[in-house]
Amino acid sequence: KKIVIVGGVAGGASAAARLRRLSEKDEIIMFERGEYISFANCGLPYYIGDVIQERSKLLVQTVDGMSKRFRIDVRNLSEVTAIHRERKTVTVRNLQTNEQYEQPYDVLILSPGAKPIVPPIPGIDQAKALFTLRNVPDTDRIRSFVDDEKPKRAVVIGGGFIGVEMAENLTERGVHVTLVEMANQVMAPIDYEMAAIVHTHMKEHGVELILEDGVQAFENEGRRVVLKSGRAIDTDMIILAIGVQPESQLAKEAGLELGFRGAIKVNEHLQTSDPNIFAIGDAIEVKSYVYGFETFVPLAWPANRQGRLVADYINGRDVKYNGTLGTSIVKVFHMTVAATGLNEKVLKHHGIDYEVVHVHPMSHASYYPGATQMTLKLIFDRQGRIYGVQAVGQDGVDKRIDVIATAIKGGLTVYDLPDLELAYAPPFSSAKDPVNMAGYVAS
Ligand code: FAD
Repeated sequence: KKIVIVGGVAGGASAAARLRRLSEKDEIIMFERGEYISFANCGLPYYIGDVIQERSKLLVQTVDGMSKRFRIDVRNLSEVTAIHRERKTVTVRNLQTNEQYEQPYDVLILSPGAKPIVPPIPGIDQAKALFTLRNVPDTDRIRSFVDDEKPKRAVVIGGGFIGVEMAENLTERGVHVTLVEMANQVMAPIDYEMAAIVHTHMKEHGVELILEDGVQAFENEGRRVVLKSGRAIDTDMIILAIGVQPESQLAKEAGLELGFRGAIKVNEHLQTSDPNIFAIGDAIEVKSYVYGFETFVPLAWPANRQGRLVADYINGRDVKYNGTLGTSIVKVFHMTVAATGLNEKVLKHHGIDYEVVHVHPMSHASYYPGATQMTLKLIFDRQGRIYGVQAVGQDGVDKRIDVIATAIKGGLTVYDLPDLELAYAPPFSSAKDPVNMAGYVAS
């Protein structure tokens, strides 16, 4: 078979490597518009913050490495501009030579990702030091601006993962950050009372938070940000991080069915409305693992998992993608913020009844040095089915969220949580782990 992949980073590169492992014979061609393939998107903010100091560490796999190791025909700086479903070809433009050609396929896999949303805010075109962050060139631009221009002030617009990570990393570089967020809280995956803890922590670390306000205009070549409230902030640079949208234009022009927020619709085998075309990663609509409604969860775990599954399915294995829980985590200075499943805002939006408990256990035995308190919120239904969990704290948050994410996938209820026999010694936990505690309180 001739298998063509569009997009050479998280989903695309995972699919390519797995396809080769499963079949020696298939011809695998991977197109990537950018120069780099398989880079560590998730590490980019930390290179700007100089926490990751070597740029080369961001490049997980090179074009040469991937071509040689997996015998994959990797064509970077090559953009797929059209899909011709009737003759099973794609049009490709070589961005170095500007040449165009048609590439035939038997199976096509789309993993084009999602791009930063850039609204037509007045003055945006004149703003000189305005950045979005998606890939290595974006990162290089931001990092060299910080290195060379030594900005004193930055405005970060958007309090999602990337906005919060950029606020932290710019602060670490000595830049005074003002974060502007339209909602009444940062970090949409958690609920307000949990986010309030994060707000306090960010302020303690010098980030100025402006909530429930949006950008009205950029003035003075982007050196002034005017908000809807009329407030104006003078700044040396702007990071625009108000969210991402699926790169589904190619699929749309080819007549493939789109769904939630314009993401590509796929079935449980990750097949689009054309059976010869599959789609994975940030560009697709997924089903909520917990409740089955359609949603859009642009995260790295789903992209990697889907990349592998799609390769398995194409090679005749009986596999399917079961939906996305949305397990997520972010570091905010000394704090960890993590969540999985559904939160109260989403449950209310869908009119679903639920019960909630909050517990405030210590990360490990309080008599052993270094124990810190966390806040853990468990959401479930009357029968004890777990809808979601959120936790905020300095230590041990990741472990508890991961245990409960596993419990959800294992079909456990809140009544099963006290019975989870988890590893304990004073430096790590308590004889009643926070997960057990949440279960006791819930049941
Ligand atoms: P991508 O990895 O974005 O790859 C898509 C590629 O397709 C792009 O390189 C693009 O150039 C290429 N492409 C698009 N259209 C075409 C075309 N027509 N022709 C050729 N090539 C094309 N997720 C987490 O879970 N945890 C994190 O901590 C985290 N941190 C992140 C930090 C940053 C700064 C960013 C930007 C993302 C982060 N993510 C994180 C999200 C994660 O990176 C994505 O969910 C994941 O990369 C999605 O994989 P993908 O294959 O769908 O898309």
